[in-house]
Amino acid sequence: MSPLPRQRLTKRSFVNFVVIFFSLLFLSACGQRPPQVYQQQVLALGTLVDISIYGVDEEQAAKAVTAVSNKMEAIHHNWHAWQPSKLTYINQQLAAGSTVTLNPEQQQLIQTGITLAKKSNDLFNPAAGKLIALWGFHSDERPDSAPPAASDIEALVQADARMSKLTLDGNQLGSTNPAVMIDVGGYAKGYAVDQGIAALRRMGISNAIINAGGDLRAIGDKGGRPWRIGIRHPRQPGVIASLETHGDESIFTSGDYERYFEYQGQRFHHIIDPRTGRPAQGTRSVTIIHKDASTADAAATAIFIAGPTLWRETARAMGIKEVMLIDATGTIHMTEAMSQRVHLNIDTKTTKTIIVP
Ligand code: ADP
Ligand code: MG
Repeated sequence: MSPLPRQRLTKRSFVNFVVIFFSLLFLSACGQRPPQVYQQQVLALGTLVDISIYGVDEEQAAKAVTAVSNKMEAIHHNWHAWQPSKLTYINQQLAAGSTVTLNPEQQQLIQTGITLAKKSNDLFNPAAGKLIALWGFHSDERPDSAPPAASDIEALVQADARMSKLTLDGNQLGSTNPAVMIDVGGYAKGYAVDQGIAALRRMGISNAIINAGGDLRAIGDKGGRPWRIGIRHPRQPGVIASLETHGDESIFTSGDYERYFEYQGQRFHHIIDPRTGRPAQGTRSVTIIHKDASTADAAATAIFIAGPTLWRETARAMGIKEVMLIDATGTIHMTEAMSQRVHLNIDTKTTKTIIVP
C-alpha cells in the first residue's frame, strides 16, 4: 500500500470525527438537560436540615426527604435531654440506682458514646448531663443570668460522672455512679445524620448531602462534579473556608457561637470542659472531616475542649486526620491533611495559620 491513500483516508476520518463530535455536542446542548439536584429544607433536630439528592427522579427524592426527616425527628424526640423522652426515663432509672432494658437503637447509641468517650480520654463526656443542666443549657431559652455558683460546679466535678461508670451488659444498662446523667447533645446530630444517610442508601440513593445547620454528611457527587460546602466563620457572617467532598465523608464543626449566654460582658457557651466544669477555654471553633458523622460530631466537641495545646493528641487518639481549630486569638491551626482540602477565605496578612503534620 502506498503512503498517499492512507494519508488521505486519515484526514477524511479526522474531518468526519470533528463533524460528528460537534454535532453531538450541539444536539446534547439543545435537547438534553442534565439531571437536577433535588433540594429541600425540613425542620428536624430543632434546626433547619437541608437535604440535597442527585440522580433520582423528583418523586423518589421527595419520598426520601420525608423518610429522612421522620427518622431524624424520631431520634430528636427519643433523645431529648429535658423534654420527657426515652432518655429522660433512662436517666431517672439510673439516678434511682435501677437498671434499664434498652432497645437495639438505644444500645447502639449508648455504646457509641461509651467508646467515643474512652477514645477522647473523657474530654467528650456525655455522662456530664448534670453539669450541662447546671449551666442552664437544658432549656429552650437560656436567659442571660449569672453563671452557677462555684461550689455547685466544684461538687459536680468531684462527683466524677463518666461514661465508664455505665455498665452495659447485653441490653441491660446500669450505673455505678448516681451522678451520671446522659446527654447525647454532643453526638446525637451526627448519629441522626448517619441514620438519615443509611435510610437514603436503603432507598437506592447514592448521591446526597444531609446538612443539619452546617454539620453534614455527603455521599457520592453530582454526576461527576463534587459537592462543595462552606465552613462558617466563628466571628463573622459568611464562610471562613470551603472544600469539596470526596465520596463518603462528614464535616462537623463545634463552635462557641452555637449556644451561649453573656453575663457582665463575658461569653459562657455550651461546650463544657469536664475537668473544670466550665465552658471550655481557648477555642472558637473546631472543624473535623471524618467518614461517619457520629465520630466527627463527638471529635469536634472533644477537640474543641482539648484546645490549642492538646488538640493533636486528642485527634490522634480518636483517629481523626483532618482537623481545623480556630483558637481564641483567631489563629487557625490545621493538620496538613486538612490544609490540603480547604480553600481559606481569609486575609493571610492578618490571620495567622499554623499547619502541623
Ligand atoms: P454544636 O455543634 O452545637 O457546636 P457540639 O456538637 O459541640 O455542638 O455539642 C454541644 C452539646 O454537647 C452541648 O449542648 C451539650 O448538650 C453537649 N456537651 C457539652 N459539653 C460536652 C462534653 N464535654 N462532652 C459531651 N457532650 C457535651
Ligand atoms: Mg459535637
